[in-house]
Amino acid sequence: MTDLSLSYSPQRAEELKENMKGVLDDIAAVGNARLVPISKLKPASDIKALYDAGYRHFGENYIQEMVDKAEVLPSDIRWHFVGALQSNKAKLAASVPNLFLLETFSSVKLADAVQKHLPERAEPLNVYIQINTSSEDSKSGLPPLTSSSTKSDPAAELAIHIRDHCPGLKLLGLMTIGSWEASHDPSKPNPDFETLKSTRKELLRLLESDQELELSMGMSADFVQAVKEGSSSVRVGTRIFGERPPKNA
Ligand SMILES: *Cc1c(COP(=O)(O)O)cnc(C)c1O
Repeated sequence: MTDLSLSYSPQRAEELKENMKGVLDDIAAVGNARLVPISKLKPASDIKALYDAGYRHFGENYIQEMVDKAEVLPSDIRWHFVGALQSNKAKLAASVPNLFLLETFSSVKLADAVQKHLPERAEPLNVYIQINTSSEDSKSGLPPLTSSSTKSDPAAELAIHIRDHCPGLKLLGLMTIGSWEASHDPSKPNPDFETLKSTRKELLRLLESDQELELSMGMSADFVQAVKEGSSSVRVGTRIFGERPPKNA
């Protein structure tokens, strides 16, 4: 169970702010992207320290943990959910009033389940479709789109379904995790980033749309490269919060 106490030491707050500033400086040196600190398995007090320093976007990877933290932390935090979400947890996710963005959409079934359980919200709930750019069995997400993809390819089908049947949802962009090896090899362009970019291009072709679609790509090891390659939103955990404890510690 994550520590939900909100009190932090001045030393910890300083350390977190320094780390955050380091990452923001690195981003600013190469471009412009939203920084989403990923606080999974870290105490709520770490989030509160950064909140008190002015930051509002935070991301979590486990649904119950996000729900628990959202309950005790300020209601103007903009939560990003970046973990795998089963349809049977859609109601739980939708119950968080300040959930800003579900980054891991990957099925029509999940879209329908979330749409069904959305409480009356002033604004639609933002979603990203997750793309498995590295085609690894261990990763979730839909297959990338190519120039020969059609409207019945899963990612296009899901985007069209959201547009035509889910008035409470707004497709804001695409997200990838990518392969560990590619993200730790600075010697060449990351093929996962290239694939996410080309998937966006093909999706817009199939949607016959010129809407802006964001790209969520880049983590601690490779966010600088991701911003250089056009990322709109980077998800950074370890560089800000330090190493994570094992999941069930
Ligand atoms: C944990 C996590 C991150 C952050 O990873 P770091 O390497 O610690 O920066 C980013 N994205 C997702 C989906 C995650 O689960």
